[in-house]
Amino acid sequence: MSDNYAGLDIINSVLSSYYNVKMATSPEEALTLLKVVEVNLIILDFGCYSKECYNFLTTIKASEETMRVPVILIGDSSNPEYEEHAFALGVADYIGKPLRSSIIKVRVNNQRLIAKQIKAIEELGLQDPLTGIANRRGFDSRIHLEWLRAIRDKISLSLAIADIDHFKAYNDNYGHVQGDVLLRALAKQFVLMLKRPADFVSRWGGEEFAILLPNTTLKGAAAHSEDIRNAVQQMVISNLPTATVSIGVASIIPTLNSSIEDFFNMADKALYQAKNSGRNKVCCFT
Ligand code: GH3
Ligand code: MG
Ligand code: MG
Repeated sequence: MSDNYAGLDIINSVLSSYYNVKMATSPEEALTLLKVVEVNLIILDFGCYSKECYNFLTTIKASEETMRVPVILIGDSSNPEYEEHAFALGVADYIGKPLRSSIIKVRVNNQRLIAKQIKAIEELGLQDPLTGIANRRGFDSRIHLEWLRAIRDKISLSLAIADIDHFKAYNDNYGHVQGDVLLRALAKQFVLMLKRPADFVSRWGGEEFAILLPNTTLKGAAAHSEDIRNAVQQMVISNLPTATVSIGVASIIPTLNSSIEDFFNMADKALYQAKNSGRNKVCCFT
């Protein structure tokens, strides 16, 4: 964003051969873009330090969705107070004018390397050690991405929550070690049954698995869940009795007004219905 866009034009010409650059010419436009595109870096040029710049930075730094996106602010190199203000507001870097292509490239690349290192560290924390599939944090991060994609492309996103039936009794009867064997076997089965590259399974909680099916309608997700339910019932695990799962399914074409939490609750309600109507069932939220 800039009064005359000159700074943005230079940045665009330097970066567009290496990165997918999207330009916004007002704070409102930028905030809308942040809702529908996965943004890895924000470069801001407000021309000079202003109330508008302050408001924009405080808005993105206060939102859970955008607070971790690094911001590089373009500013006047003869104004150290502006630079000081910017760092106090949480920007990751500051580039002083006049702009030089080589400096823009290096500073942007530095942010890319930092983000890559953060991602590697985070990924270690996104996996469930027992089953090797994604954990709840892994699920949260994936659903966030798929949610944005579904808003942008106006396509449906489906979610199936599978919960082992009477797992407490299973543990009580056969021991926790065998319970863990079952959890690992189920995770393996769920992964084997994923059909498309974007389909994603996670161990959301103790004995609950959340399966995300992007670009899949409720009908498709229900059929897939029925296949999963059936496969679990047929599974033979080291002389242990058969386990069953109940599955709740929900589907949505999300918009900027819908919430991931409400969507999750829809699938959870359907799961509750499956449990209450006898277990070993698939129920859909309608
Ligand atoms: P429902 O059919 O209503 O789902 O009954 P349930 O017994 O499966 O549900 P409940 O919530 O009463 O019990 C869940 C059980 O899952 C209790 C807990 O000991 C077990 N569990 C959770 N995490 C693990 C784990 O990592 N390993 C093992 N072995 N058991 C676990
Ligand atoms: Mg449960
Ligand atoms: Mg259970």
